[in-house]
Amino acid sequence: MNISQNRTKIVATIGPATKDEKTQRALIEAGLDVARFNFSHGKYEEFEQWLYQLRRIANEDHQSLAILQDLQGPRIRLGADLPKKGVVLTEGEKISVGFGKFKKGFLPIDYKQLAEEVKIGTKILMMDGMVELKVIGKAKGMAEAQVVRGGLVLSRKGINIPNAHLSIGALTKKDLADLRWGVEHDVDFIGLSFVQSAEDIRILRKEIRKIRKDSRVKIIAKIEKPHAYSSIKSILREADGVMVARGDLGIELPPERVPLAQKEIIAAAVSSGKPVITATQMMESMMTSPRPTRAEVSDVANAVLDGTDAVMLSEETAMGPYPIKAVKMMASIIRETEKGLFRTGRLNFENFSLTNLVPLKNQSHRVISPKIIGPSAKALAKNVKAKCIVCFTETGFSARMISQSRPQCFVVALSHDKKVINQLALSWGVVAGYGIFLENEKKLMAEIAHFVKTKKLAKKEDLVVIVANDHRSYAAKAVHLP
Ligand code: PGA
Ligand code: MN
Repeated sequence: MNISQNRTKIVATIGPATKDEKTQRALIEAGLDVARFNFSHGKYEEFEQWLYQLRRIANEDHQSLAILQDLQGPRIRLGADLPKKGVVLTEGEKISVGFGKFKKGFLPIDYKQLAEEVKIGTKILMMDGMVELKVIGKAKGMAEAQVVRGGLVLSRKGINIPNAHLSIGALTKKDLADLRWGVEHDVDFIGLSFVQSAEDIRILRKEIRKIRKDSRVKIIAKIEKPHAYSSIKSILREADGVMVARGDLGIELPPERVPLAQKEIIAAAVSSGKPVITATQMMESMMTSPRPTRAEVSDVANAVLDGTDAVMLSEETAMGPYPIKAVKMMASIIRETEKGLFRTGRLNFENFSLTNLVPLKNQSHRVISPKIIGPSAKALAKNVKAKCIVCFTETGFSARMISQSRPQCFVVALSHDKKVINQLALSWGVVAGYGIFLENEKKLMAEIAHFVKTKKLAKKEDLVVIVANDHRSYAAKAVHLP
């Protein structure tokens, strides 16, 4: 059983390096909370096998585990018919770009409207931003471009056009087919790549409803376009969570702007009470080395200090030679950093200022608004030095509200709903499990005691704070465990 108990959660991408049952079991034991399926690669049969396998292992271990389906989104790519060895573009060279067949002086892409939607001066980036073109004109439905930074370009590689608002739509045909798979297999989260605005999230939600009216899948908006970054507040109103997708964000924005963007996106997400994942290149050197670099260790630790709900591994676990080591290493960095987290005072996001709360002298506190149940439970837990805060949650909302205040002790979320338990695997500091709210207080306490003891969060006689919710108000109460 995984009792590593990190507050900051771990998302890892499943792939050829982590496809067998033994490895997946080891990942879960090492601290995996969310398994990401990258729909830019892979086949349905594989995803299906992983999904059932992972769910079975997690069930056997009484572990909450979420499945995140990551949709490729409207990524524009180079055409499929470039010469096998690729094409070398040299600085200063002029080339036209558009829809069509490869020929000398013409670079095909899989998007028809490019010429209409770019302006003179628009940047076109290829090969992870290594190669840069600049639009200098338009002719015959094609963009005329000049190579600003040269290099090799290969068939089917993604293209980034940071500052054009493209009419490409939120979801491609492939995304719609993949989405159907995800909704029908009842994944817990769907991540959407290259979100441009809140409208894209509304479109995705509508498509989900068309497939299954009562689907409860949650939407993670990947923030990897400058426009999404500047629209973060409205996107957070529509989405259920966000990802700081630093890979593409660092291509579309100058990379030196990404560190502050990360901090702002995390703070905005926490303020809205929705989970945020910090992603990409966190331990990329582990693609070739059994240990991460000091800079990578710092990067993971800094994301924890920023208050992110989760940190993510991509190729490191999908394709790298050390997938289990990578998760273990990530878990140790998180554990070590969290030891000092509350000394730094870093997690006091301004929206949760406790100044408007009456100091709690007694051991019970009643609040009306769900907005202050978090700070209230946190303050009470701190006052009485509780071992954990326990809540019963039907939809996960109460647990997320408590998690949002980033209390020092763990948030135990009990729910009768498997889906809710699994979705809470992404939320900071939450340990979720099966439980039903019982009117009989003795039985209720026995149920709570059993769960927190098996999770090794508290022992007999320890104080825990219990948050109860009677639909109109919340009450937080400190009690000794039987
Ligand atoms: P990707 O998204 O790995 O699917 O491209 C994450 C990122 O761009 O950082
Ligand atoms: Mn991306």
